[in-house]
Amino acid sequence: MIVSTQRDTALTRNQSLVLEALADAKGPLTAYAILDQLRDRGMRAPPQVYRALDKLVADGMVHRLESINAFVVCQLPDCGSRETMIFAICSDCSQVTEIRDGGVGDRFQAVAEQAAFSVHKSIVELRGRCAHCRAS
Ligand SMILES: [Zn+2]
Ligand SMILES: [Zn+2]
Repeated sequence: MIVSTQRDTALTRNQSLVLEALADAKGPLTAYAILDQLRDRGMRAPPQVYRALDKLVADGMVHRLESINAFVVCQLPDCGSRETMIFAICSDCSQVTEIRDGGVGDRFQAVAEQAAFSVHKSIVELRGRCAHCRAS
């Protein structure tokens, strides 16, 4: 799978390896699963993976899913500047689909204003079943 990076940031070897592992994965991967896959390619220590992930997440190329403590490669172009990110996570097959905001971010801001709160970022993780699992 070809990963199109949104920016011209030069990636280190470790960052490229981690990005490739995530791009080739069928679903989200934990940091340890990534480490396992890359052991043969010179990655030995968790901090190497975490450092690479930190940078990829900061650049918006990879997203962290809090609810399952795992990482996925970004699926949307021009996602980096987005304030609201929505992920549909299938409880059966762990497939993750990144969904366009569709105005949900504005709704969150409107709700937050009732508490005099200003939203900088919202990450929504939806749990349910994907079309494939529902059909089978
Ligand atoms: Zn994204
Ligand atoms: Zn599924």
